[in-house]
Amino acid sequence: MPQRDETDKRLWYHGRMDAPRFIADKTVGRLAKWLRLLGYDCALQKEDDVERLFAQARDESRVILTKNTRRHTRRGIPTHLVLASSDSMEQLRQVIDTFQLTIGDDRMLTICSVCNTPVEPLTAEQARGLVPPYVFATQREYSRCPNCGRVYWAGTHRAKMLARLQSSSEA
Ligand SMILES: [Zn+2]
Repeated sequence: MPQRDETDKRLWYHGRMDAPRFIADKTVGRLAKWLRLLGYDCALQKEDDVERLFAQARDESRVILTKNTRRHTRRGIPTHLVLASSDSMEQLRQVIDTFQLTIGDDRMLTICSVCNTPVEPLTAEQARGLVPPYVFATQREYSRCPNCGRVYWAGTHRAKMLARLQSSSEA
């Protein structure tokens, strides 16, 4: 399990949140994207500003995900997990195993992979013109990010994700 900052009253550990929330630093940006696609809230700190990273982690009760081994020896670092691999799929596997995350249709594609905002359902009619014609012809379930406007559809995204996860767990 990740190390724990004793002063930190983490809601998740007390069972009041249904899943841990994460914050990735810039060493694991791709991992953040994968977690979002699976429906887990993962903020991203792109600047190399450790104090801001720690502050946001504490303020929003997020577990820090990093590859930076220098940082976790610092005193007073909030709850964090140091990723062992530089491969983003192996990192994802490590996070899933450590936090016992569930992967399922009810969670997948509920959070925008670009900006970490919960997406909203979109009717097929609303999606017309926003997606390529071949997608519109074959898909009926859509959602859209109210923040950045990105449109998601279940079929192909979901299948691709599951295939990637499957192949990485067998490797
Ligand atoms: Zn978005």
